[in-house]
Amino acid sequence: MEGKSAVSHHRPTRSPKKIVVVCAGVGGLACAVRLAKKGHAVTIFEASSHVGGKCRTEWIDGYAFDTGPSLLTLPAVYRDLFLKTGKRLEHILTLDPVDPSFTYIFHDGKKITFPNLSHNGTVAAISEQLGEDAGKAWHEILQRAEAMWEASRESFIEGELRSPLQLLKRPHLLSDLKTIAPLTSLRSLTSSITTNPYLKKIIDRYATYTGSDPRKVPAVLLTIAFVEEAFGAWHIQGGLGSLPLSLEKRANELGVEIHLNTRVTSIKTIDGIAKGVNLQDGREIEADIVVANADAEIVYNSLLPPMKESRRARKALRKATPSLSGYSLLLGLRGRSDLSHHTVFFPEDYDDEFDAIFQRKEPVPDPAIYICNPQDPLMVKKENSESWFVLINAPRHEPESGCDWTSPGLKEKYADHIINLMESKGLQIRSRLEVLEIRTPADLESQTNAPGGSIYGTSSNGPRSAFLRAKNRSAIKNLYCVGGSAHPGGGLPLVGISAEIVAEAIEELSAQ
Ligand SMILES: Cc1cc2nc3c(=O)[nH]c(=O)nc-3n(C[C@H](O)[C@H](O)[C@H](O)COP(=O)(O)OP(=O)(O)OC[C@H]3O[C@@H](n4cnc5c(N)ncnc54)[C@H](O)[C@@H]3O)c2cc1C
Repeated sequence: MEGKSAVSHHRPTRSPKKIVVVCAGVGGLACAVRLAKKGHAVTIFEASSHVGGKCRTEWIDGYAFDTGPSLLTLPAVYRDLFLKTGKRLEHILTLDPVDPSFTYIFHDGKKITFPNLSHNGTVAAISEQLGEDAGKAWHEILQRAEAMWEASRESFIEGELRSPLQLLKRPHLLSDLKTIAPLTSLRSLTSSITTNPYLKKIIDRYATYTGSDPRKVPAVLLTIAFVEEAFGAWHIQGGLGSLPLSLEKRANELGVEIHLNTRVTSIKTIDGIAKGVNLQDGREIEADIVVANADAEIVYNSLLPPMKESRRARKALRKATPSLSGYSLLLGLRGRSDLSHHTVFFPEDYDDEFDAIFQRKEPVPDPAIYICNPQDPLMVKKENSESWFVLINAPRHEPESGCDWTSPGLKEKYADHIINLMESKGLQIRSRLEVLEIRTPADLESQTNAPGGSIYGTSSNGPRSAFLRAKNRSAIKNLYCVGGSAHPGGGLPLVGISAEIVAEAIEELSAQ
């Protein structure tokens, strides 16, 4: 990947293993593909009727929507995977850079358009709209973000994070600590560089890429700003759901067996060692290694029996704050607008969004509104039409102790409220509406088996959050965790990296 040695050490697998992958999310598929390429016998069991989990392109009455990821960053992760397991990605998928990458519109009507893949262009756009000081501040923020990326990439992101002690052995520990500022929050770091309220909102929003609160996440999340600017914002023609479909195809070519509609009810262990899985249909499947791609909460609290080997992992999960969820509207609209591919409307009081989600646990009254208007002819059946995916950050579905998204009338009332807000910002919706579908956190939970509908497993709230996330190599021998709720975290790039970490760890074991 960019900034990373593309050469992986391809030792021949000395002893091929029988490996069961629980779930066909992007992480499970990516890991299965890498393992099969190394010669292992891999079988995937997936509860739903399709691969890809949260990453999916859905067609409704002639309109296609990316109902999960709608922005691909760091495509090099998947370029690397496809290249090393067969034909390169460009033979299978068409990636388009999205230009402009984002249009940000603020409560007072101020608008900034970020060009894709251009630091100087972004500085110029900010300087023009917010003044030269703000442009200079963006430059300083992005320089710090790049330094953080360099200091954290190998050890925090691409490597297994086995313990805090491991980090103390780094060669440039002191200078890296100064750069990363582990005890500083993202909000504090931004505030130390600029007082510009518009820039602060743009930076705050990166915390939500991991489902978190900018006032609580470590400053190192600033790396997301660098990754997005330096390596670009990308769209996959036909929708991002084409990514898991291509992974499925590659997996089939490499002999991976994929069983859909097949729920795993438990992971079998004997004397603290994973030995296979039990399926809902009563079958018992033996395996040398189990790779779990379900949410870590499900892995540790329902698929595994309570056992001393998993005590630490369960305790860490209890301590972590779950990530926020999402409420979305799928809008099929007649006619065309001038809305760019990714647009964010910011509210006046952005802090209230995080208070509503994490403290009051109620739908956000005046939320940031993200609209994805892909303008991809492959995503609409009729020429003169648009499919908009509207995503609002939302509290999880917690009927007992928080927000109950199934309360009668709630989702419809909130949709009405959001559409009113959008129309008050000058967007025409009701007069153009052909399709309206609502997805709440409760739907996300039932459709993807993500507890509470959390988008990213555990959040990054708090300086120790990275250490509370499930480790890739679990304390239960022969059990590995891959995907958005395991290290290094959620989002397609990190999920792809977690698949690589797990495949390498298993390779290490089987080469012994
Ligand atoms: C609304 C939304 C917007 C997002 N936007 C972006 C974005 O723009 N860019 C980005 O990079 N990322 C984004 N993400 C995050 C990204 O989708 C996830 O991080 C990633 O897809 C998670 O992959 P995963 O491998 O963890 O598997 P998941 O997608 O979590 O899939 C897990 C799978 O496990 C299956 N399963 C669960 N339990 C069992 C069981 N017991 N037996 C068998 N199968 C089981 C489920 O059916 C599911 O298919 C978004 C997510 C959502 C929901």
